[in-house]
Amino acid sequence: MTAYKVADAQGLIKLDAMENPYSWPEDIKQAWLETLKDCPLNRYPDPEARHLTQTIKHLNRISDQFDVLLGNGSDEIIQLLLMALPVTASVLAPAPGFVMYKQLSDCLGLKYQGIPLLADTFDLDLPAMLAAIEQHQPSVTFLAYPNNPTGNLFSETSVLEIIKTAKGFVVIDEAYAPFANASFINMLGQYDNLLVMRTVSKLGLAGLRLGYIIGNQAIIEQLHKIRLPYNINNLTQISADFALSKKTLFDQQTQKICAERAVVFKQLNELESITAYPSAANFILFRTPRNKASEIFLSIRQQGVLIKNLSAQGGLLSDCLRVTIGKPEENKAFLTALRKSLAQH
Ligand code: PMP
Repeated sequence: MTAYKVADAQGLIKLDAMENPYSWPEDIKQAWLETLKDCPLNRYPDPEARHLTQTIKHLNRISDQFDVLLGNGSDEIIQLLLMALPVTASVLAPAPGFVMYKQLSDCLGLKYQGIPLLADTFDLDLPAMLAAIEQHQPSVTFLAYPNNPTGNLFSETSVLEIIKTAKGFVVIDEAYAPFANASFINMLGQYDNLLVMRTVSKLGLAGLRLGYIIGNQAIIEQLHKIRLPYNINNLTQISADFALSKKTLFDQQTQKICAERAVVFKQLNELESITAYPSAANFILFRTPRNKASEIFLSIRQQGVLIKNLSAQGGLLSDCLRVTIGKPEENKAFLTALRKSLAQH
């Protein structure tokens, strides 16, 4: 195996990791610092993060019929879920998908099946998914909605068909929900095997490391047996509680990012040799001329902008790069760098 590598972004405009580019106004920063002043660092945190869990339940209008488990990022929740499975279990997800599903399955010695998406739309290949479910009987199927790295929302009817067919859990990973206006949270009551996972990372709190999963109480109870007792530290509990009360601020930032997404998408597709794919997330996947992706990626970095090179993953991602939507001036710098590198290569 190779470790999950995070690129060094020092001195570069950072458009590689789906972060929100905006910070907070001074008065909100001051109010946040006030809440931290009395944070008892000498004490262990509340092992169940009860206050924060209630805040999250309330914000997502989760009824008491369901439980919520918090994780040190949704990465940790993926790990917890996989650790709960027997060693003989299979895990299934569409390909390309979020790399941690496979990375953590491999780590734990589980059998991982990546089922190719449709080449033209990146939508689910429903017959192939259903056949794989039938054949491998996966204990967990992950569906990122919108999908990373392709950015699209899968067809809702296909997702429902998968939830109905699978005997194992189906995790709808809604990491990019703030930008998508679509969710399966309202379907939780209809399917016992459905779990919905979210994170505050893309919303603008990636540094806090906080994710959560919502589902039926019997399942969440099992996950608590594997969770380390103090997985959400004091500073995160207090800061997330504070930040999540600033809904208007995050809504405004999210709207700016979505508006910029439309600008970047249009400008990318105006470039003759580039194909940008429609995105419901805070990033855009685009295809470069054949065998040029790595050169273009390096040239853009040389010009001071870090994006993500996905071409080496091969398959449907050959020749593909991914850019996170930043501030208008950052996006402009990226587009200028891309235009220049296309002219050179
Ligand atoms: N799910 C998806 C689909 C993602 O793209 C990411 C982050 N890249 C995560 C989960 C993990 O997010 P975090 O651990 O920051 O909550």
